Amino acid sequence: MPAVTLDDLPLRDDLRGSSPYGAPQIDVPVRLNTNENSYDVPEPVAIAVVEAVAGEVRTLNRYPDREFTGVRKALADYLGHGLAPEQVWVANGSNEVLQQLLQAFGGPGRTALGFTPAYSMHPIISATTSTAWVDGKRGSQDGDFDLDADDVAAQVRSADPDVVFLCSPNNPTGTALPLTVIAAAYDASDHAMVVVDEAYAEFARAGTPSALTLLPGRPRLVVTRTMSKAFALAGARVGYLAADPAVCDALRLVRLPYHLSSVTQAVALAALAHAEPLLRTVEATREQRDRIVDELVDLGLQPVPSDANFVLFGGLADEKATWQGLLERGVLVRDVGLPGYLRVTAGTPAETTDFLAALAKTQESS
Ligand code: PMP
Repeated sequence: MPAVTLDDLPLRDDLRGSSPYGAPQIDVPVRLNTNENSYDVPEPVAIAVVEAVAGEVRTLNRYPDREFTGVRKALADYLGHGLAPEQVWVANGSNEVLQQLLQAFGGPGRTALGFTPAYSMHPIISATTSTAWVDGKRGSQDGDFDLDADDVAAQVRSADPDVVFLCSPNNPTGTALPLTVIAAAYDASDHAMVVVDEAYAEFARAGTPSALTLLPGRPRLVVTRTMSKAFALAGARVGYLAADPAVCDALRLVRLPYHLSSVTQAVALAALAHAEPLLRTVEATREQRDRIVDELVDLGLQPVPSDANFVLFGGLADEKATWQGLLERGVLVRDVGLPGYLRVTAGTPAETTDFLAALAKTQESS
């Protein structure tokens, strides 16, 4: 029997021909392609998480706390900035937070604006929620991925979107946005929700302010964060946002009942109780990021300044050949679809050494 294809199914017309998110999951010695934290969860934290989960197992016959009260309080305390638990919302990864935001504020007949290159899931989640996507532009010339406040305001006024996505630090380029750009995007519309995706905020260079400081008096501003990166918990799927409490009320209308399992809540709470040892990897990761930037310059390449746990670098004659050459030497990095560029995650010192050695060899043989 011939295999059934998507064309044989009554798929939504607007999903026909689209591609799923698909960072390769290839089993190689050095995996630096999805901006994970390379460090395992430290043993004492792992034991605390296991004990917290064990404490939940016998009551898994009951639904979880639908309001994930403990996790919201712990995250509000972690974020600081005078945030109250009512201003925090949590879901299964910040991707689900973004999806819920688009379910509530996007949807058929509505538009989202983002400034590419930025996080590839922003347009994909817009599409799956039937939100029209407007591809805004960043940078004025080759190798300049910055955003300028006046330019952003003009693009917001011209597209007149319902949702504006800003990513800071920006994935895949790495650089954080000045607060003036975020404020300008907000002021350029009187009705758009402005979502600042701060998945990598903890890795920012010293003195980089968070959009959390802009929340007071801006009920349409939303800051999304995740425990997948700095907290080394990508497998646990815990993302969250901070915003006006009314934004959380809006998300209650679209979330599935009991969307955050008791197990997830227990893991998040135990991890937050051990934030200090978990976050120790942030400084170590920053050191490797800065080392990558320095050594890529020595290799004659052009790294983009990074506030994240990864570095985008340009100057490659053939990025696809370099990607393949690295893979053959056991190192997986990310081709983000920008001609001449690749993106590499900052991992452990040993992984950085392997990456830099493999890259030098790849460059020699090209
Ligand atoms: N935002 C950005 C900018 C990201 O790079 C990622 C993951 N790579 C996410 C959000 C989603 O992360 P998660 O769902 O694991 O929280």
